[in-house]
Amino acid sequence: MTMQLIDQFNRKVDYIRVSVTDRCDFRCVYCMSEKMTFLSKSAVLSLEEIERVIKVFSELGIKKVRLTGGEPLVRKGIDKLFQSIGKIKALDEITLTTNGSQLQSKAQMLKDSGVERINISLDSLNPFTFKKLTRTGDLNKVLDGIHAAIKVGFKKIKLNTVLMKKLNEEELYDLVDYAIKYYLDISFIEEMPLGETIYDRQSTSVNNNDILLKLKEKYSLSKTDISTGGPAAYFSIKNTQTKVGLISPHSHNFCENCNRVRITCKGELFLCLGHDTKIELMPLIRLNPNNDEPLKEAIINSMAIKPKSHNFNLADEQPSVVRFMSHTGG
Ligand code: SAM
Ligand code: SF4
Repeated sequence: MTMQLIDQFNRKVDYIRVSVTDRCDFRCVYCMSEKMTFLSKSAVLSLEEIERVIKVFSELGIKKVRLTGGEPLVRKGIDKLFQSIGKIKALDEITLTTNGSQLQSKAQMLKDSGVERINISLDSLNPFTFKKLTRTGDLNKVLDGIHAAIKVGFKKIKLNTVLMKKLNEEELYDLVDYAIKYYLDISFIEEMPLGETIYDRQSTSVNNNDILLKLKEKYSLSKTDISTGGPAAYFSIKNTQTKVGLISPHSHNFCENCNRVRITCKGELFLCLGHDTKIELMPLIRLNPNNDEPLKEAIINSMAIKPKSHNFNLADEQPSVVRFMSHTGG
C-alpha cells in the first residue's frame, strides 16, 4: 500500500507545487522588482534533482504536481522534465502555471507529456496596461500562446488574473467575456503580501467580495461545490462553459482543508505559503545521491510542523512573509 502524508492536524497532503526556477521573462509589479538578482545555477536544483524529489513525493502518496516558478517554461531542458514526470505512474495529475509567453512552442510538448490542465496568467487585454503590469511582457505573444493551447486541446485551461485598482480593475468584464468566448475558466487572485514592499499594496489591492458583487451585476452566477483544498470558491456562469474562481488567500477558511506543500527551486520545502517554516531538502539530496531514505524521512517528519493556518495581514506595514512569489511558486 502507498504511504500517505498526514499532518499534525490530520490533513492529508497529496498535492505539491514545485517551483522549477526563480527566473522569468516578465517582471510583474506585484511579483518582482524591476531589477532582480537571480540564483546561480548551482544554488538551484538540477532538473534531475527535481525529478527525483517529485518521484519520492509520489512514493509518499502525492497524486498531483503543479510546476510553477518563476516562469517554468523558460527553464532550459524543461521538456525533458515534463516528459519524465509524465511517466510516473503514481501521479494522477501534472499541471502547470505559466505566463503563456512560451506556449506557442511548448503547448504540444505539454499535451504529449500528459499535462491535461494548465493555468495561464493574464492580467490585461490592453497591450499598454499589460506592458505596465508585466514591465517586459508582450500581450500578443501571450494571446498567441493561449490560442496555441486552445488548439492543442487541453482538458481545461484556466486564466489567472490579479486585479489592481487604477491599473486593470476596469477590465473585469472584458477578461470574463474573453474567457467565455474561448470556453476557458478564469480565477481572480487577491494580491498577496509577499516579497518586498514594491509599492503600496493597500492602495492597489482589489477585494474579491467587490469583484463578486460586480460580476453579479452582469452575469447570472451559481456557486459550485468544486473544492481544490485551496483558497478558491468557484461559480458557474449561466449559459456558458465558464467557471469563475475567486481566490482569497487572506481568508482563513481554506486552511482547514489544506492539502498542499511547496518546494522551491532551491529545494526548500515550505509547509505553508504564509509561514517561514521550512525544511532544506537540497543537502539531503546532494549528500545522498543514491539513497532516498533520508529525504523521505525528512518529508514524513515535516508533517509534524505544518502550520495550522497562515498569517497574512494586508494592514501590516511589512509583508507577513518576506519572500517573492517567484521564489516560492504561485
Ligand atoms: N510565471 C508563472 C505565471 O505568472 O503564471 C508562474 C509563477 S507566478 C508566481 C504564479 C501566479 O502567482 C501568477 O498567476 C501570478 O499572477 C501570481 N502572483 C504572483 N505574485 C502575486 C502576489 N503578490 N499576489 C497574488 N498573486 C501573485
Ligand atoms: Fe514572472 Fe509569473 Fe512573477 Fe509575473 S507572476 S513576474 S510572469 S513569475
